[in-house]
Amino acid sequence: MRDSIQSAKRIVIKVGTSTLVYPNGNINLGAINQLAFVLTDLRNQGKEVILVSSGAIGVGLNKLKLNSRPQTIPEQQAVAAVGQAALMDIYNQRFMTYGQQVGQVLLTRDVVVFPESRQNVTNTFNSLLKLSVIPIVNENDTVAIDELDHLTKFGDNDLLSAIVTEVTAADLLIMLSDIDGFYTANPVKDPSATLHSQISEISDEIMAQAGGSGTKFGTGGMRSKLNAAKRILANHKQMVLANGHDPLIICGILKGHDIGTWFNANN
Ligand code: ADP
Repeated sequence: MRDSIQSAKRIVIKVGTSTLVYPNGNINLGAINQLAFVLTDLRNQGKEVILVSSGAIGVGLNKLKLNSRPQTIPEQQAVAAVGQAALMDIYNQRFMTYGQQVGQVLLTRDVVVFPESRQNVTNTFNSLLKLSVIPIVNENDTVAIDELDHLTKFGDNDLLSAIVTEVTAADLLIMLSDIDGFYTANPVKDPSATLHSQISEISDEIMAQAGGSGTKFGTGGMRSKLNAAKRILANHKQMVLANGHDPLIICGILKGHDIGTWFNANN
């Protein structure tokens, strides 16, 4: 049993586009509804919950009836602008079904780099949580410039979720992906790969087992998840990487069940 997970009070949950959007591009309302149900229930138990959600571009493509991601950055940012508003609209509707208020927090990297604005971000999260609101966080895609611009852009929501865990001093990050956890090799390419149940250090050997993204919507792949885990471990926090296909999995994770890969330096 993973005891320290069961006692986690402040929890960051990151969902990837693969949880929110079907492979055919349509929005997975069932998954979003389950997510709203589970997170509201956690809130009702007295836990403090923060959701980091990807999906703005995936939902934007759906809304604009586009089949593929546009090539240029301004076009991608336009799609994200449409998608982010639509995604928040869906979240708001679903969470309100359970009587749970949500708030949108859009971040760029510079605000967490500079101590003063970083403190403002922390204060905002604390105020939202005090008001029993579930903050829904994303990178501010419409103004963050491009992958090479390390000042404004986080690059991927895996890193963003690790940084949100840091600035909110959360106890645990649950990262939901399209795969059951971190394997000894990419199972899509190597069927003999086995799941790591627990990892206490991101060694070079572990890093070498990570491959890129497996899907058209996925961005970071396993390398970016391990980089996020590295940051989490360096800050003496813990992270569980698990499959977000059914968001009810969050309940099992928080009961300390052996689900996904548990990144924890303390054991
Ligand atoms: P998400 O969109 O959920 O963030 P990504 O597509 O970015 O997900 O990353 C998950 C994908 O990483 C998996 O579907 C898998 O194809 C790939 N992958 C590469 N190496 C590994 C590994 N060692 N263990 C598990 N998955 C891996």
